[in-house]
Amino acid sequence: MAASPFPANSPLHFSAPSTADVRKAHNHRRLGSICVTQKRNNVACRVEIPRRWYNLVADLPIKPPPPLHPKTFEPISPQDLSPLFPDELIKQEASTDKFIDIPEDVVDIYRLWRPTPLIRAKRLEKLLDTPAKIYYKYEGVSPAGSHKPNTAIPQVYYNAKQGVKKVVTETGAGQWGSSLAFACSLFGLDCEVWQVRASYDQKPYRRLMMETWGAKVHPSPSTATAYGKKILDMDPTSPGSLGIAISEAVEVAAADPGTKYCLGSVLNHVLLHQTVIGEECLKQMEAIGETPDVIIGCTGGGSNFAGLSFPFIREKLEGKMNPLIRAVEPAACPSLTKGVYAYDYGDTAGMTPLMKMHTLGHDFIPDPIHAGGLRYHGMGPLISHVYELGFMEAISITQTECFKGAIQFARSEGLIPAPEPSHAIAATIREALRCKESGEAKVILMAMCGHGHFDLTAYETYLKGSMVDLSFDDERIQASLAKIPKVVA
Ligand SMILES: *Cc1c(COP(=O)(O)O)cnc(C)c1O
Repeated sequence: MAASPFPANSPLHFSAPSTADVRKAHNHRRLGSICVTQKRNNVACRVEIPRRWYNLVADLPIKPPPPLHPKTFEPISPQDLSPLFPDELIKQEASTDKFIDIPEDVVDIYRLWRPTPLIRAKRLEKLLDTPAKIYYKYEGVSPAGSHKPNTAIPQVYYNAKQGVKKVVTETGAGQWGSSLAFACSLFGLDCEVWQVRASYDQKPYRRLMMETWGAKVHPSPSTATAYGKKILDMDPTSPGSLGIAISEAVEVAAADPGTKYCLGSVLNHVLLHQTVIGEECLKQMEAIGETPDVIIGCTGGGSNFAGLSFPFIREKLEGKMNPLIRAVEPAACPSLTKGVYAYDYGDTAGMTPLMKMHTLGHDFIPDPIHAGGLRYHGMGPLISHVYELGFMEAISITQTECFKGAIQFARSEGLIPAPEPSHAIAATIREALRCKESGEAKVILMAMCGHGHFDLTAYETYLKGSMVDLSFDDERIQASLAKIPKVVA
């Protein structure tokens, strides 16, 4: 075995895998579905890809409130959603079945990057000098670089199966748009994406990824839709927002029977698909004989967080373990910690059904923080409900603390995190430092939902010392909260 050139007390000290291990890992990787547990390097991945998604709704003592029609305020029927979604996804959205089988064709595509590694952050532990054990489940190994393909693949699969020829969507930072473009390229569907103007201008590489996979990309607000034109008339320099981009994509899908709409977060079926992460992670933790004491993830709409944590919440409800479950959101867009729990629209124009969720108001436009994937005015209704039931907690962290953590992570573990999971990292570091104070050897499990290779300008801003913490504007939030529709429920 090769010796580490670094002294044993250095955060960079490691025990390299032997050549035999490397060859074995390589062979296993080629086999696709199985890869090796490299005990020495603390990478756990020798598990089968899960064959079922887990639906937490089945196990909740109180069911979540239903979505309402945007005009009548009555609970929506499946037909109300059929202009936008294929039947199978509408069924999954309202399902109370505990498990839903993952189609074999979807599992076969998951094999391109799953199982994803569960890695012990030994070098970060050493850097922090903490008795805590830190594990992270890394979803950045997918072709698009995040957890989003876990749902893009099944969404496009069900659309293709129903004969749909084209799907449309919005994207903020470009992670979701690129994941959907990737999925469409595999199934031969057309894909059109409305990308929030600010990120369209600042992130040419995400756009080029989408185009490489064959998608057509519009900056939002765009002149391609009536709603986009209306926004541009009011403000020709509008930077756009996710809420506006959703309105544009929904408008296009609603007007064309051959086109459906896809959403990358928030909805129940999206959270459902992401549970492949937590199901896989449960098996991996079991294989290495660990049980988490704390599970930490960042939340935009809540899908990566739900994906990792919901299967563990099931285990908790069954009395098998008792992890604390903590969501982390940006201080500049704190829907769980500062929003209200109320029925609100998912988009700015008010075209989507009303969902009961933690919201800052559907026309709240968050400040342009670097974690673009976390700049959404609402939180997934199921996450919001689970939060109300007291099964999880939430905190918010400012972006400079997050990037400080991301840099520590990059310089000890190697991976450069996306700005979104830097929130989970900062919260994990806080927890690990508390363990140092108290001497507790807690097991912390963190959702590392994507890499930051296309977000390096954010790192540049931080490294130059010019990143600022945008102050939280209470007045602006009060103004947008006042516009939430008055629904008695
Ligand atoms: C989209 C995205 C998020 C935010 O979405 P969630 O549904 O809250 O997971 C977070 N991290 C990454 C890397 C993303 O691409």
